Amino acid sequence: MSSYLTKYLLRDFNACPTLFYQKFHHPEAFPSADNFATLQGREFEKMVKRCARFASLKEIPYAQNDEEGLRNTIQAFQSGSSLLAEASFRAEKLFTRSDIVEIKGQEITLYEIKSKSQNIYKKSGTLNEDYLTDVTFQYHLLLKAGYQVSKVYLCHPNENFRRHGEINPDEFVAFDDVTAQCRLHEKEIEKQIDAAFACTQEKAAPVHHFNAGCGDCPLKKTCFDDFGADNISSLIRANYQKKEQLAEQGIHTFADLLSHQATLDPKQQIQVESVLSNTPHIDVAAIRKFMEGLNYPKQPLYFLDFETLEPCIPDLEGFHANQIYPTQYSLHKLEKDYGPLKHSEFLGDGIHDPRRALAEQLCEDLKEPGKILIYNKAMEPKRIDDFIALYPDLKKPLSVIRKNMVDLMEIFSKLQYYEKAFGPRYSIKVVLPAFYPNDPVLDYHALPGSQNGDDAQIDYYRLRTLEPKEKETVRSGMLRYCHLDTFAEVKVWLKLLFLIADSNAQRIASLIRAYERDYFKI
Ligand code: SF4
Repeated sequence: MSSYLTKYLLRDFNACPTLFYQKFHHPEAFPSADNFATLQGREFEKMVKRCARFASLKEIPYAQNDEEGLRNTIQAFQSGSSLLAEASFRAEKLFTRSDIVEIKGQEITLYEIKSKSQNIYKKSGTLNEDYLTDVTFQYHLLLKAGYQVSKVYLCHPNENFRRHGEINPDEFVAFDDVTAQCRLHEKEIEKQIDAAFACTQEKAAPVHHFNAGCGDCPLKKTCFDDFGADNISSLIRANYQKKEQLAEQGIHTFADLLSHQATLDPKQQIQVESVLSNTPHIDVAAIRKFMEGLNYPKQPLYFLDFETLEPCIPDLEGFHANQIYPTQYSLHKLEKDYGPLKHSEFLGDGIHDPRRALAEQLCEDLKEPGKILIYNKAMEPKRIDDFIALYPDLKKPLSVIRKNMVDLMEIFSKLQYYEKAFGPRYSIKVVLPAFYPNDPVLDYHALPGSQNGDDAQIDYYRLRTLEPKEKETVRSGMLRYCHLDTFAEVKVWLKLLFLIADSNAQRIASLIRAYERDYFKI
């Protein structure tokens, strides 16, 4: 059980009391793991601490637990430091470790660091809910601990900043005075704290309700199991309000949807019928039309995937905070007229701007016209648009590439193919294992290095600091990962050919098997 209520737990309570209750009583079941965003948050913290106003900042040593953190804070303060990073405070059953505080007698100034440069404020000008909870929780706690809180600042990347040469932290970091918002919100926070403590006293977790956080919740797979098998938690194209409305009407399962004659759109109808009959839905005519549009085998067929980096601290000239750019690609090419499957790839060195070299190699690798399958049009077309704006001399080949891109995911997002194993999702990491269960060659978890896009970002960021030997190992892991992303596209496309009984599916499968034997040595 947690000893204290923290700002993080209070945020959880506000999002979902069920999740909060479980986290409060069983914190060991929710280990925290670093992702690229948290690592970037730390980089930004370092940048904030280099600002001139923090020249005399004293960093309190890392503490194993809350009590040690409190002891370290008292020691640092007694040694004469008034500007402290990672200072711990407690008031009754509330606890916080604050990013930076400045203490002068009983007066305190609080600095909360956030690495996002956008969506900090709502349209009304109020801080977003999470940030408002974070700062007001600390404001309230410090008042309770006997301090006068003179100012509260939110430190975040200045959205107007563009990098030109070395970054001056004082220009890059924005300091927003949010004291007035804390004062206005304090009563509300007090009520939330009382309600959260009352919740912890309950014998069992509160009844769950669909809410905006369910999609990312660590409990989402099991939370609604009590609704029964095939329940509405996995209904597609239904937001949480709709699901909550259904639950309030006693509609818990897909079978209930039908028996209550609930209004479903055509795609939901397909999903419900497919799940209840445990039969895949295949729109053969639509998939065949999609396949015919690819012009294969008259032209080669390409399978492309980019990896990108979105660093909080801009590392390229002219960039702003959290600006995205491509760092790597994998490209499979199925030669026309049933020629062999080939592979090419690009990976930047992590130090220099990779974009020009990447764009040039891509134009070269794709110079023979043909359709280019991507998976999720939200990524590659936008990056090609960036290149077109950046490199006018490459506009012609890049425009052809852009025009030839076809989104393979649309077969699944449009439910031209659906099966129960997909649940409410259609990412390639869901479709691939459903099509090829237990195939070790296609197992992302068996990859030796990066296993997902977030890992690839972390690894790319690390390249700049690694020794040559380790760098090679990491690069090799990144290449394997990106290769699998496009080989997955090849295999999904092949499976679709079989599903629509394409007369050449067997012949194409032999080409892919030959490649597989060669690449994977199987
Ligand atoms: S899945 Fe939704 S209702 Fe269940 S604990 Fe998570 S956020 Fe709460």
